[in-house]
Amino acid sequence: PLPVLAVVGRPNVGKSTLVNRVLGRREAVVQDVPGVTRDRVSYPAEWAGRQFMLVDTGGWEHDAAGLNARVAEQAEVAIAMADAVMFIVDATVGPTATDEQVVRMLRKSGKPVVLVANKVDSPVQESDAAALWSLGLGQPWSVSALHGRGSGDVLDAAMAVL
Ligand code: GDP
Ligand code: MG
Repeated sequence: PLPVLAVVGRPNVGKSTLVNRVLGRREAVVQDVPGVTRDRVSYPAEWAGRQFMLVDTGGWEHDAAGLNARVAEQAEVAIAMADAVMFIVDATVGPTATDEQVVRMLRKSGKPVVLVANKVDSPVQESDAAALWSLGLGQPWSVSALHGRGSGDVLDAAMAVL
């Protein structure tokens, strides 16, 4: 079986956008339509000559009361099935309590993690990415999934631990 790389993070941080960039096509649904719930979707992917399964997570409905619990639940299942995890944080928002919750889960899992500081669309936002060192997951890789900036480097980093 192919190694599994799971993409985990809060809703709206750009998980599906990054998945599409890796796939080279718009297959993962960006801005999931409420009510169309698919918790995890696995795509066969290839990077730098390596084949693997890329798992996009999300698609749950954003009900205010249960949001944190649902993110955590989804993250836990995805982490359990993964050989390595790309943890996406929105660098323009900074780390939230939900992000901290996922960090604790990642630590407990012992799985290799690549920390992605997404939405760093321009060099002036590099300081937003640097703030994510505080999560204690090592280097935050600054990326603009939307424009492609830094996405090759973070995929190389993921391949190194997968
Ligand atoms: P997901 O819920 O984590 O899968 O997030 P999506 O991939 O659906 O993206 C949520 C929104 O963020 C969409 O409007 C994307 O276009 C936007 N987005 C994703 N990546 C970036 C990025 O690198 N920069 C900016 N400015 N917007 C982004
Ligand atoms: Mg998505």
